[in-house]
Amino acid sequence: MSDAIDPVKLDRLAEVGVRVGLNLQAGQDLILTAPAAALPLVRRVAAAAYKAGAGLVTTVLSDEELTLSRYRHGSEASFDRAPDWLYRGMGEAFAAGAARMAIVGDDPMLLSGQDPEHVARAARANSQAYKPALEKISNFDINWSIISWPGLTWAGRVFPDLAAEQAQARLADAIFAASRVTGNDPLGAWADHNAALARRRDWLNGQRFAALHFQGPGTDLTVGLADGHAWAGGASTAKNGVTCNANIPTEEVFTTPHARRVDGRVRATKPLSHMGTLIDGIEVRFEAGRIVEARATQGEAVFLKLLDTDEGARHLGEVALVPHVSPISQTGILFYNTLFDENAACHIALGQCYAKCFEDGATLSRDQIVARGGNQSLIHVDWMIGGPNTEIDGITADGRRVPVFRNGGWA
Ligand code: ZN
Ligand code: ZN
Repeated sequence: MSDAIDPVKLDRLAEVGVRVGLNLQAGQDLILTAPAAALPLVRRVAAAAYKAGAGLVTTVLSDEELTLSRYRHGSEASFDRAPDWLYRGMGEAFAAGAARMAIVGDDPMLLSGQDPEHVARAARANSQAYKPALEKISNFDINWSIISWPGLTWAGRVFPDLAAEQAQARLADAIFAASRVTGNDPLGAWADHNAALARRRDWLNGQRFAALHFQGPGTDLTVGLADGHAWAGGASTAKNGVTCNANIPTEEVFTTPHARRVDGRVRATKPLSHMGTLIDGIEVRFEAGRIVEARATQGEAVFLKLLDTDEGARHLGEVALVPHVSPISQTGILFYNTLFDENAACHIALGQCYAKCFEDGATLSRDQIVARGGNQSLIHVDWMIGGPNTEIDGITADGRRVPVFRNGGWA
């Protein structure tokens, strides 16, 4: 392993991933996917899992060069293939009670130089094949979690002016800080953090706001909330009864907007990295929930194409509150990775909503979710709209305004 990465903090990250992220249960199997370059972290996660009483840890490794090899040398037919046998097996393992951890750390722009049609076909084939396994994750049937490894090429994207090792060291430090493993008692730090997020979540659920009104530079946006929406944030309990933190890090408290009750203008406060393209300077206008005007100063063609994915791509599926003083935001770094960037600022997401962000969400049919204002789409793309000047009011059903955010933080 590179000397750039502190082995003690790496141990703590593995421990937090297993104990807090997964809350792995005694006897529970674990399916772990990771970049091969992340082996120092993979080995620590496996050790932490076995110490926590894991049944069997099964690891599937990927590699940037192996992925690129297909795009460089693969036959035309290769781009419609995916290992469905592998994903069926994962689905079986989840059905039998296994937990799932993903370590991410590859270059977020890995495929940006490849033929977009090949990339799109391979992605489609993969999502088709992945369905039996992904369903169990997105329905929250099992405890799962994502943690990060400071991959060299990713670090090079984030810190293009630094030498490779220095860039990796800086990214490692940023990951450790954001994942709250820099102190001596990371498990205690996570207990406190989850309690703080739960207080915000419970306060918002108690308010039963009909809408949120966002104001900031270039932004005057009213986001109606879905009927019977519920706020989520911090640890939550999967259908197998295990309470876990699906994202490490996590700073957001989020819910479902009403897909037909969003009006006004909004300007993005950070660039959005989407499928290897940087989209910057986004400004859109909503009318009755639909984006009717959209522009971007960079990557506009890709942004407009994204909006044309399906009708739901022009409507919101998530609104999330993150104070500007969050540790990730304080780093001032653009990570080109949603796991980090969406936890640095208040954000909204175009596309699919989360069923769990409704009261009794697990029991609702798709039609019931749509009737309550939940959006449906093939995409879910988060983009940041919060900054140091963000002001948010909650608006109650009878029109009362309650301060929620002032100067970018909780009021
Ligand atoms: Zn979010
Ligand atoms: Zn999101």
